[in-house]
Amino acid sequence: MRGVEATYRLCALRIACSFRTVSDEAALVIAGQVPLRELIRERKDIHTAAQGGSNATRAELKAVARRSSFGRWQTQWDGSTKGRWTYSLIPKLKDWLERKHGQVDFYLTQALSGHGCFRSYLKRFGHETEDWCPACGSGIVEDAQHVLFECHRFDDERLRLEAEVGARISTETLVPIMLSEPRAWEAAAEFASSVMRTLRVLERRRKQETE
Ligand SMILES: [Zn+2]
Repeated sequence: MRGVEATYRLCALRIACSFRTVSDEAALVIAGQVPLRELIRERKDIHTAAQGGSNATRAELKAVARRSSFGRWQTQWDGSTKGRWTYSLIPKLKDWLERKHGQVDFYLTQALSGHGCFRSYLKRFGHETEDWCPACGSGIVEDAQHVLFECHRFDDERLRLEAEVGARISTETLVPIMLSEPRAWEAAAEFASSVMRTLRVLERRRKQETE
């Protein structure tokens, strides 16, 4: 069972092009992959209902089972202690999972998981000794929240995105805006890509300076 879970998780991570350090909970949500335990439960529920003489079609049984598993998954996501940055961006699974547009790429994954070239992340995994923002100074942690929504280094990119989508972006609004229309999703993906690429360049530069 562990082996299957591990393989399944790797698939979720590949889909999200994610880092190995992202929790299972967050990786599955970002990738939009129903947890294996729920798929197994769905199959069992469909089988039980069919055996029990249900008049519903197989498609209807599947839809009912999927709704139940989304409900259980949502409860687990609400109660989990893992992937809380992702949770603050994507608290409601249904809207995210049932969207009709939007691919999650490498850079969006970093923004949505908080696992990327943020100093808080790099420090947590032993790649940096400090976690404060080099532009904003000590006391201000360079994490995903700061970089995406606050840091003045990315004012231009942020303003461009906000002009494009016609709204202020924040932890609460980013994902709902992305889900509102394909163009908004693309604009947010470009924003994440531009910001994450810049962070990567800055990290390389810091490394070279200290070497
Ligand atoms: Zn900053």
